[in-house]
Amino acid sequence: MSKESKSANNRPYSTEFKAGDRLFVLSGPNKGKIGLFKRFFPKKGFILVEGVNLGVKHAKSNPNLGVAGGRIKKEKPLHVSNVALVCPKCADPTWIRHEILPGATDDDKKRKVRVCKVCQARIDE
Ligand SMILES: [Zn+2]
Repeated sequence: MSKESKSANNRPYSTEFKAGDRLFVLSGPNKGKIGLFKRFFPKKGFILVEGVNLGVKHAKSNPNLGVAGGRIKKEKPLHVSNVALVCPKCADPTWIRHEILPGATDDDKKRKVRVCKVCQARIDE
């Protein structure tokens, strides 16, 4: 495994990706593919992107659960450093920075939103 399989300080990875995000694969055999964020594994920093990096899994049928056996296509994890967010505003793979927005009233909590570094648009509203 590459040195990327563990974070430098042995702490879990974090990610800025959220459900519904479109993600762009930056490197590897799936370079250039775009899919929806599916799942993130903080321990190793792996991410599942819907419809990208498919592998074939041989599944046993389970009639009790109504599961048919056979070859099932399933996403394999990609490393989170090889994936970039596709900005919904400019439709390009981008990097994000954060902006702290004040609440609507004084009692409101401040909100942290993601901002596209390319077009400066707010990704979270
Ligand atoms: Zn943008």
